[in-house]
Amino acid sequence: EPPKLLVSACLLGRPVRYDGTAKTLYDDAFSRWRREGRVVAVCPEALGGLPTPRLPAEIADTLDGRDVLEGRGRVVDIGGADITSAFVQGAGAALKLAVDQGCRFALLIDGSPSCGSAFIYDGSFTGRRHTGEGIAAALLRRHGITVFAPNQIHNLAAIMDEHGRAQP
Ligand code: SF4
Repeated sequence: EPPKLLVSACLLGRPVRYDGTAKTLYDDAFSRWRREGRVVAVCPEALGGLPTPRLPAEIADTLDGRDVLEGRGRVVDIGGADITSAFVQGAGAALKLAVDQGCRFALLIDGSPSCGSAFIYDGSFTGRRHTGEGIAAALLRRHGITVFAPNQIHNLAAIMDEHGRAQP
């Protein structure tokens, strides 16, 4: 059985981002994996019970998802509300889905306080980025799932194909 890929729902065209939009990814290999039934959609923030649309949220104080998982960091929305628990709950639900579905890899939107894998925003809501992971990405990695950002899809494609294609 070829390994499956957990994918940010917004990359699959679902309008689940905080502002009610999607960020659809168009890529041939990605379309093929979808046809082969190897793609599992997830939106950690929706699984955490957050509504769409919702206020923008960032991990505070230039910390990242690992800090949140270890109880040192928190997630705040632009109105100042602490919504850490919804993000942690959503990350846990995303991990459970990935494990239940046999996902060994994930393709997640970068920059998100949940899905970011290379960079996130610093908590000042001024557009400043720093190197770090979102909470779901950090939790998935901690459990051995390899997380890729959309700009790494060619590396991911090489690995997915190496692990075999499903028969049509
Ligand atoms: Fe997309 Fe992830 Fe944000 Fe959901 S939590 S909208 S899947 S980036």
